Amino acid sequence: MGIWHERAARADCDGRALINGERVWAAADARFDNLSPVDGRLLGQVARCDGRDVERAVALARAAFEDGRWAGQAPAARKRVLLRLAELMLAHADELALLETLDMGKPIQYSLSVDVALAANCIRWYGEAIDKLYGEVAPAPADSLALVVREPVGVVAAITPWNYPLLMAAWKIGPALAAGNSVILKPSEKAPLSALRLGELAHAAGLPPGVFHVLPGFGPEAGAALALHMDVDSIGFTGSTRVGKQIQQMAGQSNLKRAWTELGGKSANIVCADCPDLDAAVQAAVGSIFFNQGESCNAPSRLFVERAIYAAFMEKALALVPRYAPADPLEESTVMGALVDGQQQQTVLGYIESGQNEGARLLTGGTAARTDSGGCYVAPTIFDQVRPEMRIAREEIFGPVLSVLCFDDVHEAVRQANATSYGLHAAVWTRELGKAVQLARALRAGTVHINQYDSDDITVPFGGYKQSGNGRDKSLHAFDKYTELKTIWMQIA
Ligand code: ADP
Repeated sequence: MGIWHERAARADCDGRALINGERVWAAADARFDNLSPVDGRLLGQVARCDGRDVERAVALARAAFEDGRWAGQAPAARKRVLLRLAELMLAHADELALLETLDMGKPIQYSLSVDVALAANCIRWYGEAIDKLYGEVAPAPADSLALVVREPVGVVAAITPWNYPLLMAAWKIGPALAAGNSVILKPSEKAPLSALRLGELAHAAGLPPGVFHVLPGFGPEAGAALALHMDVDSIGFTGSTRVGKQIQQMAGQSNLKRAWTELGGKSANIVCADCPDLDAAVQAAVGSIFFNQGESCNAPSRLFVERAIYAAFMEKALALVPRYAPADPLEESTVMGALVDGQQQQTVLGYIESGQNEGARLLTGGTAARTDSGGCYVAPTIFDQVRPEMRIAREEIFGPVLSVLCFDDVHEAVRQANATSYGLHAAVWTRELGKAVQLARALRAGTVHINQYDSDDITVPFGGYKQSGNGRDKSLHAFDKYTELKTIWMQIA
C-alpha cells in the first residue's frame, strides 16, 4: 500500500459548513453522502446548506463589512493575512492535495504540483498586489480635484465548480478578500472538501470571523439563495453555461448584483503544416485534452490539423495515448485519474456514443476503464473524421475526448473554429510570425496560444468571449469584479 493510500485511510473529510469561523452542520441539519470517484468509498457527509444558512452567512458578512473589521484594515495588513494564508496552504499541501484527489479523482501529483501550488500562489499574488494598487487623479479643470478610487463592492458570493475546486476558489476569494470584501463561497456539491479546509486555514491565518464563510450544498438550494439574495453585491461564478445564464437571470430578478461568469468552452487548436515543432504540437494537443481527465473548460477539445501533416500528426498522437491510460489517482506516477462521478462518466460515454452514431471515426478509447476499481474512469478517446455539425464538435464534453478535423485552408479552419457559441481559448501553430498574429487576432477567444497550449500564469486574465462568460479571473483585472470605482469631485477654487 502506497503512502497516499495510508494517508487516505486516515484523511479527515469534514463536510461541515464554515460559518463565522466555526465548523457547523446546516441549520436544517440536512446532509448528503460524499462518495469518492477514486474507488466509490464513502468519504463522509457534507452539510446541505440552504436559504437559512445563506441568510445567516450574508447577515454576518454584511455586519463584518459594515464595521470595517477587514475592509477597514490597511491594505498592507490585509496583505499580511493573505501571505500567511498562502504559507499555510503550502504547509498543508499534502492534506489539501489528498482532499482534492479523493473528492474529485485527479492524480495526486497534479493536486500537489498544480492545484495546491497555483492556488497558494494566487492567494499570495493578490495579497502582494493589494498594497500596490493606486487610484487616479483625473485631468479635471483647475478649479477642481477629481479622484477616482476603488472601493470593495461589499458582500461577494463565489460559486465554484468541481474540476479545480481549490484553485477556482482561490481565483475568486484572492482578489475579493484582498480588496476588502466579505465573501461567501459555495463550492460544488461534488467536491467541497478543499474549499472548506481553505476557509479554516484563512481563519488560522488571521482573517477575522464573519468575513469569509464556506457553505457547501446544492446549486438550486444554497447557490440559488445566494444568486437571488438582495444583500449580495457581486457574484463570481464558474461553471456551466446553462447555470451561468440562470445566475445572470437571478441577478436581474433580485438586486442586479454584478454577475461575473466563467463558463464552458469548446476550444480550437489549429495546427498548420508549417508548425515549427510537430512533436511539441502533438504533445500539447494530446496532453492538454487528457490533462485533468479532460475536465477543463479551456481544454483544446477541437483539433484542426492541416492535411499535409495530418497522417504524420495522427500517428504520433496515437502513439502517445497509452501514457494516459487511467490509473489509480493515489499513485504518484498516475497522469490520468477518475472523472468526478458516475453521472459525469455517463455524460462522457453518452457523447462518445453520439460521435459513433453521427459517423465520426473512433481511433482509440471509447469505453469506461478500470471498471473493477469501483471508481469512475473513461479511457482516453480520439475521434477523427469529425464534421462541424456533430455534437462532439459543438458541445462541451468535459471528459477525455478529442475531436479531430482535417483542413486545407487555414482561413476556413478559423471560420469553423469561431463557429461556436463559446470563446474561451484557442491555439494556432505556425512558423510564420505574421500569420500567427493575424490568426490570433481573427480567433474570437479570451486567450489565444501561439506554438504552445498551456503556458499561462496568474499575471494574465482568464475568461471568455461570447457564451464562455464575462469578466476575467486572474491578473489585476480580476479586481474589476469585486470593486466599485468611485469618483470624488472637489471644488477647490
Ligand atoms: P457542472 O456541470 O460542471 O457541475 P454547474 O454549472 O452545474 O457545473 O455547477 C457549477 C456550480 O454552480 C456548482 O457549485 C453548482 O452547485 C452551482 N449551481 C448549479 N445549479 C445552480 C443554480 N440553479 N443556482 C446557483 N448555483 C448553481
